[in-house]
Amino acid sequence: MPERMAICPGSFDPLTNGHETIMRRGLALFDRIIVAVTINLKKTPLFTTEERMAMVRASFPDEPRIEIEALDGLLAAYARSRGAVAILRGLRAPSDFEYELQMAQMNRHLHPDLDTVFLASDADGSYVSSSIVKEVARLGGHVADMVPPHVSAALAAKFSGRP
Ligand code: ADP
Repeated sequence: MPERMAICPGSFDPLTNGHETIMRRGLALFDRIIVAVTINLKKTPLFTTEERMAMVRASFPDEPRIEIEALDGLLAAYARSRGAVAILRGLRAPSDFEYELQMAQMNRHLHPDLDTVFLASDADGSYVSSSIVKEVARLGGHVADMVPPHVSAALAAKFSGRP
């Protein structure tokens, strides 16, 4: 059987428990996952590409089936070049669906062999997003139950001494 590899793309600015769970669950479905950390964001990220990649590595220190790469460019072209069978994404709420459906259809238009696999987020993590975590952390709120411990520490370091 040929290896079945999926690309799990995202900005992960920062990585949350929701992302981590999707990756972990993806390992049960695929032989290997490449986490593609997007470089070109519409907004300036809080964490550098290297910091965001290191967060994923720190969550999966002994997992050789997770590879982490920076992605600069078209996801469908990257997926084709790496021989991926699927793109792995999480779905939190109906509001995610419209954008995700459009992306999945566009990616199949560009690369007809490429499917997108959606995993429903765990119910208790459906309100967690990187942007809301950043906002809460910036204002001094408690985020330790929404992100891995190393991300919680990184957020505290980023915002220490800031108003
Ligand atoms: P992007 O900037 O491409 O939306 P994100 O880093 O925000 O990337 O998210 C990457 C993927 O993880 C998306 O499929 C998103 O729906 C999913 N995701 C984000 N937060 C959660 C969560 N709490 N539970 C499950 N999936 C999530």
